[in-house]
Amino acid sequence: MSFRIGSGIDFHQLGEGRPLMLGGVHVPHNKGCIGYSDADVLLHAICDALLGALALGDIGVHFPDTDPRFKGIDSKKLLDETCHLVAAEGYRVINIDSSLCLQEPKIKPYVPQMQETIARIAGLTVRDVSIKATTTEGLGFVGRKEGVVAYASALLQRI
Ligand SMILES: [Zn+2]
Repeated sequence: MSFRIGSGIDFHQLGEGRPLMLGGVHVPHNKGCIGYSDADVLLHAICDALLGALALGDIGVHFPDTDPRFKGIDSKKLLDETCHLVAAEGYRVINIDSSLCLQEPKIKPYVPQMQETIARIAGLTVRDVSIKATTTEGLGFVGRKEGVVAYASALLQRI
C-alpha cells in the first residue's frame, strides 16, 4: 500500500466590504479575506496539502492569479479541480486535518457545514474532515484582526 502525506498553509488579509468565505461557507462578519479568488483561506490550504502530497506544486501554479478565469472564483471549484487531479494521479484522499487561526468571529457554529462541504467535494465522510480553530490570544497580525491563517494536512492512498 502506498501512502503520501501533504501539508498546506495559506494567509489572507482581512478587509471591509468582502464576504468572509471559510471552508466553502459564508460566515457573517464585518470583514472578509482579500484575494484574487473568493479568498477562502481554508480551502486554499487544503488544496495545497493535496497538491503537496503528490509534489504537484502549489495552488498558484495550477490556478494563477494572473488568469482571468480565476478572478472571483468560488474556491470550492478549485478544491473540486484539485480532487480531480488527485484522482487522475491514481490516488484517493484518506483524511484531511486543518486549523484556522483567526481572532474573530467565532466559527464553531459553522464548522459542521464546512466539514460537510469539504467532505462532499473530496468524496469523504465528515469524520474524515477535521477543522480546528484558534485565536492567537491577541498576538500578531491575526490578533490585530488584520489577517487569517489556515494550515492543512492530507493523507492520500494509491488506488
Ligand atoms: Zn489563498
